[in-house]
Amino acid sequence: MSEERTPGFNTLAIHAGAQPDASTGARVTPIYQTTSYVFDDADHAAALFNLETFGNIYSRIMNPTQAVLEERVAALEGGTAALAVASGHAAQAIVFHTLMEPGAEFVAARQLYGGSMNQFGEAFKKFDWHVKWADTTDAESFRAAITPKTRAIFVESIANPGGIVTDLEAISAVAKEAGVPLIVDNTLATPYLTQPKEYGADIVVHSLTKFLGGHGNSVGGVIVDCGTFDWMATDRYPSLSAPCASYHGMTLGETFGNFAFAIACRVLGLRDLGPAISPMNAFLILNGIETLPLRMQRHCDNAKQVAEWLSGHEKVAWVNYAGLPGNGFHALAQRYAPKGAGAVFTFGLKGGYEAGIALVGKVELFSHLANIGDTRSLIIHPASTTHRQLGDEARERAGAGADVVRLSIGLEDVDDIIADLDQALAAV
Ligand SMILES: *Cc1c(COP(=O)(O)O)cnc(C)c1O
Repeated sequence: MSEERTPGFNTLAIHAGAQPDASTGARVTPIYQTTSYVFDDADHAAALFNLETFGNIYSRIMNPTQAVLEERVAALEGGTAALAVASGHAAQAIVFHTLMEPGAEFVAARQLYGGSMNQFGEAFKKFDWHVKWADTTDAESFRAAITPKTRAIFVESIANPGGIVTDLEAISAVAKEAGVPLIVDNTLATPYLTQPKEYGADIVVHSLTKFLGGHGNSVGGVIVDCGTFDWMATDRYPSLSAPCASYHGMTLGETFGNFAFAIACRVLGLRDLGPAISPMNAFLILNGIETLPLRMQRHCDNAKQVAEWLSGHEKVAWVNYAGLPGNGFHALAQRYAPKGAGAVFTFGLKGGYEAGIALVGKVELFSHLANIGDTRSLIIHPASTTHRQLGDEARERAGAGADVVRLSIGLEDVDDIIADLDQALAAV
């Protein structure tokens, strides 16, 4: 390979960030199951603690297995650096801890993963951080919610569970006008289907638990710094632009330039809040990522066939999959995720709430559980599970009304997936 060649996505998914282990030659990145790392000498220790040199200190803050995972995801998203943490929710908490001060606001799409709605609307209130909800299908609603206290905009690229594709460029224009970063949760799309940075995202977050890990065995999260936001151009983000008391007055935004956000998330957020990812989970997720392009394409191809089949079923009122030509989000899906509209979508049962409960009890190949992005096909009735804490109106607005069933289509033979739905629907 010539020096200038930029590796393709498949190559990066397998190689980015990884080298044979320097001391043993191990080809696969080992599980560095250690809490701490021996310093070369007192000067080395001092330089590490002063952030004058990069290296390992303690596994709450960094770990070599985790470091490869971070470089891998940063490469796949086209970012400058990344930080892996214990869960998708931990990633979100750290992002906002870095951006917000007490009394500050952010604008978030109301079409979000149910857990994110709870985190933003309830848990964050205790920190005096305030969410204003907007409609992910209407960029103007974000503009209308901006105030002088706004510090960020948060959307999902493909929204969970409604099968909605967000017009990232339109919302990024609002963020740029307001001078705040755009945070995109890219969990459902993964960088294989869409790279939010290309459409103006400044920060990308993922639940690694889902398609990136991909095998339903590990919870994890990641924050990607796109390197696009100028933190020193404003005094709104003092974690980045003001001298930092716990690092001898260092200004992180100045010292670390286009990867300062990832550094601040690590050396302040992760250091002080503590949700570190375990080396074992980092290892399993890293292995999952190696086959991301293959898996994601099969997930999408299977999902499209299942959605088509469901659309013709007599007990099905509607199917909301942006990969179907008649769908309202089809044009946005073609623009932002042309390889496929993901593998998570919803459909409505003519029989309503009771039929939804009955269906999840009748499936055999599908697993009835609260997750997405497994090799296995998964089913859930959001109104009676993930979205049950929300009121009726909020549920409807989040695309989780009483008749809604959510599927995450796995990698089994598509004929077997369809046969299972067929027998279960017959029994409803
Ligand atoms: C699951 C999920 C999260 C939360 O991630 P955890 O790893 O469960 O903490 C956030 N956003 C989306 C879109 C998700 O699907």
